[in-house]
Amino acid sequence: MSHIIHRNLRQVPPVAVGADGITIRASDGKTYIDASGGAAVSSLGHGHPDVIAAMHRQIERCAYAHTGFFTTEAAEELADRLAAGAPEDLSGVYLVSGGSEAMETALKLARQYWVELNEPKRRLFLARRQSYHGNTLGALAVGGNEWRRKAFAPLLMDTVRVSPCYEYRDRPERQSVDDYTACLLDELETTILKTGPENIIAFCAEPVVGATGGAIPPTPGYFKGVREICDRYRILFIADEVMCGMGRTGTMYAIEQDGVAPDIVAVAKGLAAGYQPIGAVLAHKAIVDCIRNGSGAFQHGHTYIGHPVAAAAALAVQQVIERDDLLARVRSRGATLRRMLGDVFGVHEHVGDIRGRGLLLALEFVQDRSTKEPFAPERRLHAVLKQKAMERGLMVYPMGGTIDGQRGDHVLLAPPFIATAADLSEIVSRLEDAVDAALKQ
Ligand code: PLP
Repeated sequence: MSHIIHRNLRQVPPVAVGADGITIRASDGKTYIDASGGAAVSSLGHGHPDVIAAMHRQIERCAYAHTGFFTTEAAEELADRLAAGAPEDLSGVYLVSGGSEAMETALKLARQYWVELNEPKRRLFLARRQSYHGNTLGALAVGGNEWRRKAFAPLLMDTVRVSPCYEYRDRPERQSVDDYTACLLDELETTILKTGPENIIAFCAEPVVGATGGAIPPTPGYFKGVREICDRYRILFIADEVMCGMGRTGTMYAIEQDGVAPDIVAVAKGLAAGYQPIGAVLAHKAIVDCIRNGSGAFQHGHTYIGHPVAAAAALAVQQVIERDDLLARVRSRGATLRRMLGDVFGVHEHVGDIRGRGLLLALEFVQDRSTKEPFAPERRLHAVLKQKAMERGLMVYPMGGTIDGQRGDHVLLAPPFIATAADLSEIVSRLEDAVDAALKQ
């Protein structure tokens, strides 16, 4: 019996004892291909010598220095690098320990900005259904993942919701993509007017929806419209790039591909690619200047913010991505993986949609392709698929409740950027096998 409160209290997962490249080895000698980078984390794969060496150097130099007393070269250099590569004027960087902390920080920073501007009435966040922004109470409140929220709903602050941009399910066949996008933007604007823009702090969204919806990219022009509406009504726009950022979709920030700049961006996961727990918030210069010229301090902080070893790991990961031109590789391998998935699942009777960007791709499963009818939730197809994949030495990231928190199943793929075409082919072949076995059960 384990003393760990595991994710499933009726099941102890295999013990990972080694990891190298795109694989993780368990104590029973079995090796798993990490086709999901855990949860879209391990973008450089495992055991990368440059990252490990950078961590060693930092540990020997200074393993920890509290940010109430010191800053470190590792943290400063990481912040410089992130700011230099960020969308326009996102030059303030706050380093935390993960994605939920990054989102909490983003929410509080946005709120304090308005307080500094003497607009304390603003207390509401606007966010989309079928989204995920983290598991801490603030981030969970803003997120629209129904099953994750359910037990805690009475504890969560009010959040105003709009529809996700989910073309596969929500665009009627007769409607053009542009009209669908216009309807979503119309809904956003109407909701803002109904709520009163003077009460709203920010609109939060994942540029490419991650685990909740399964790699759902926006329609063309959606985020341009969001930006315009936020500007028109003086509402901040927070992009949650915890999963889709840091190169996962083929550009350092996913939203770059939509041609707009948010006011605040949250990143984590791929930032240090799993070598250390770290997340970051990038804030527009105007927000940081406002606080600097106002109260002078952001009312926030945790013991481990700006952790030097985490910062050194993240810096090394980002340097490797640039040195080895891995963003170009994400784009080309992403196209390869998509083609391979199309070859195998493109006409599969139970795969309704293949979607995503770069190396963040997903399949959505359906009972019936023509009606898009999902499988019955009681069947727990996603859970069965995970088990069948693990039996075949394959880590993928399946999830249920794709449509509304209850119905729908998808599987997310987020392989390391270093995966070769042969690796991707092996991943697709094992996945095909696992899907067949899951559907037979
Ligand atoms: N935001 C998004 C979009 C995520 O995908 C996640 C995690 O999956 C989070 C926030 C929370 O990050 P963490 O699990 O590191 O707290």
